[in-house]
Amino acid sequence: MPFAPRIIGKPLLELSSPRDGAVVDTAVIHSTAGSGEPEAVARYLRKLKPGKRASYTLVIGRDGDAVLLMPLDRAAWHAGDDDLASWTATGDGGLRVNPCSIGIALCNRGPWPVGPLSCTVNAEHPKRGVRSRVWETYPQAQIDALIDTLIWCRTQVPTLTRITGHEDVTAGKIDPGPALPWEQLAAVGLQRWRGPWPLKSGFFEPQGGA
Ligand SMILES: [Zn+2]
Repeated sequence: MPFAPRIIGKPLLELSSPRDGAVVDTAVIHSTAGSGEPEAVARYLRKLKPGKRASYTLVIGRDGDAVLLMPLDRAAWHAGDDDLASWTATGDGGLRVNPCSIGIALCNRGPWPVGPLSCTVNAEHPKRGVRSRVWETYPQAQIDALIDTLIWCRTQVPTLTRITGHEDVTAGKIDPGPALPWEQLAAVGLQRWRGPWPLKSGFFEPQGGA
């Protein structure tokens, strides 16, 4: 059977906005910064106060369980309004990120990998000012599901051409972090788009363009 994410419960329509005609051209990858798996993440989001405005389009568990939280024609609230400046700075016409993107969250603790569940990797984050050195590993099943999910998203939304990380589009963000094996995505044609943020010396300069 061809891959498709599964749907659990009611879609999170109350945690989304209409796209208002924006062309969806970007997938932004996040980590959840928590220990929960997709169903727990969905429960957590539903309980947030309405003003909190936090959600994802999809969430992928450590075991590769990919869950669609809302239809792709709705905009999830996965990247804040701060991101507007970064989009403008990179010449993308000042579009806000959320209406023109799909937010994919990977269940992962990021730089806070405490507890018995976690495997960790030692890695330096390329962004200036980020000191964390220990990150939860992304299991292979989760990366495989991420690749399947990105390819599925592109079949559903043919205008989607840009794959990026939250850390690439927002100044203050560090997810999905250096534990994500971007080279595996690149190997199947899912090249990372990097934002304009200054990187530590020794790391490649950021690149614009799709
Ligand atoms: Zn994020």
